[in-house]
Amino acid sequence: MTDLTNAYNHCLLQWSVEIPWHQPQWQQILPYLQQQRLPHALLLQGPVGIGKAYFAERLAWRLLCHKPVDQLACGHCKSCKLLQAGTHPDLTHLQPEEKMYAIKIKQVREVKQNLQLTALQGGARVVIINPVMQMNINAANALLKHLEEPGNNTFFLLVHRWSAPLLATISSRCQKLTFTMPAVSEARPWLQQHGIAEEQLDLLLQLSSGAPLLALDMMKQDAITMRHKLLVDLTAIFRRQKTPTQVADDWKKLPLERILVWWHHWLIDLVKLKMTDSTINICNQDIIKLLEHVSAKTSIMSVYAMLDALQKHLQSLKQNPNAQLLCEDLLFRWHALTA
Ligand SMILES: [Zn+2]
Repeated sequence: MTDLTNAYNHCLLQWSVEIPWHQPQWQQILPYLQQQRLPHALLLQGPVGIGKAYFAERLAWRLLCHKPVDQLACGHCKSCKLLQAGTHPDLTHLQPEEKMYAIKIKQVREVKQNLQLTALQGGARVVIINPVMQMNINAANALLKHLEEPGNNTFFLLVHRWSAPLLATISSRCQKLTFTMPAVSEARPWLQQHGIAEEQLDLLLQLSSGAPLLALDMMKQDAITMRHKLLVDLTAIFRRQKTPTQVADDWKKLPLERILVWWHHWLIDLVKLKMTDSTINICNQDIIKLLEHVSAKTSIMSVYAMLDALQKHLQSLKQNPNAQLLCEDLLFRWHALTA
């Protein structure tokens, strides 16, 4: 069982924060909550960075609260106090022990053992599985029977990002609740309320592909400064002012997944530039000069080869690769691209 406070820190929000683009999903399940007929296994699916995990937490609170009002936990009952303290015995988080690792069968067995006990607070029991696609095959198989027959007043909330594949045996046993990317007109005022300055808003929304919680996370981690540094380093390699090894030494301490995703976007822009010879469809408009310089020096096949390598490295992140070697490999490819 993990600390609920950590779960909220992870999604950056206090439990009472309203997310306007979740209202359709709340409206969808509210009648079931009121009639106590909520499906016992719910798959919360949608793009990354729009608050699915937060929705799962709020729904868990609503299910565990002794005096809920509509879609909300009361915030005052004994159960709510335990949730706020992060010590509620009937809420379990099933998640990887380390960020990129798998959820293992040992963890599923522990959850199953807990579920054999009576609910300690005399109400519902909730298991949040996040991210569900990180369950390995043995863990997933061990869970199947419980998803079908979870026991009285027990709920599984599975959080799934669309970009990753999910076992059909899992998804077929769940009712689906689908989340979509909010409109920019909805995301902008919400992000302003949460402290993102007007001058950073558009770039952060662009970098997060419009996902507000991801944009908020990037703001808190000063991602704009990091992105600037990456681009300065890539330009320095392009101009032969720094070596790939020097840069890799710096980059290995940075969040690798974010670097690779951004780099992927830059290479896609490079492909667009090579294919159309026009800058109209380029997403990263602020780096057009760099892209044009690289484009003039390289072939489309080399860019595709680098894209392939980058995608393989992205997939390999689950295996916790050597960061220095990974960065070096890609930076040497970048170096060769601009030879
Ligand atoms: Zn309550």
